[in-house]
Amino acid sequence: MPELPEVETTRRGIAPYIEGCEIREVIVRQPRLRTPVPDDLADTLVGQRIGTLGRRAKYLLMPVGDRTLLWHLGMSGSLRVARLGDMPRKHDHVDLVVEDGVILRYHDPRRFGFVDWLQGAPLEDPRLARLGPEPLSPDFDGERLYRLSRKRRIAVKPFLMDNTVVVGVGNIYASEALFLAGIDPRRAAGRISRERYERLAEAAREVLASAITQGGTTLRDFVSGTGEPGYFAQRLNVYGRQEAPCRRCGEPLRLVTLGQRASVFCPHCQR
Ligand SMILES: [Zn+2]
Repeated sequence: MPELPEVETTRRGIAPYIEGCEIREVIVRQPRLRTPVPDDLADTLVGQRIGTLGRRAKYLLMPVGDRTLLWHLGMSGSLRVARLGDMPRKHDHVDLVVEDGVILRYHDPRRFGFVDWLQGAPLEDPRLARLGPEPLSPDFDGERLYRLSRKRRIAVKPFLMDNTVVVGVGNIYASEALFLAGIDPRRAAGRISRERYERLAEAAREVLASAITQGGTTLRDFVSGTGEPGYFAQRLNVYGRQEAPCRRCGEPLRLVTLGQRASVFCPHCQR
């Protein structure tokens, strides 16, 4: 599933090919995504120029003329740059054809992603308005985690994955950040000290920033008529490694379910 680093990598990968370009044609092969592709998409987009691509949480914001398109990649979506003449493959649902024969092509086998107009002023859209701060922004820190968690009995892992607390810390990054910070994912959020939350916020920033840096090495994959954008395989310490030896102490990692999500941790290193 595309997580925040993949969405940011997508933004950086496609931006140089489409920003400032005029849209010449819109091709919708499959309008039934998570929400239907807006009927007026082609009429509104053709002849308009694409502005500077933005991102908020896992949404891509694409200003076009005086409106903004919101893209979400869902579970299996990807956006890549193709060229006129590159034949669409199965699950290539939407094409934006821009100048110079460049095509922005949306691919999504499971169709949980969508493209839709942003409603109202930027960031006042109901889908965006209640989101917490970006994890790499100064608005996210240990103090915020400490303050919002007081008297909360929820386990710290689902607390960290709550989009109103901070956006974009999905299962992989929450698991890895808790390992780096040495915190047991089952611990009640309200019973963790300010100092440990400082370490956790720092660890979350570190794992996300490093994933974005690694994603940068795959940027060329966004320009290809055939391949998928290379969602990068990272070296993970705990996620997906249940029963494997902890990289720090050698003890077997343990799997528990928290907030309906699989959670792997080291019972020895994480307290
Ligand atoms: Zn360990």
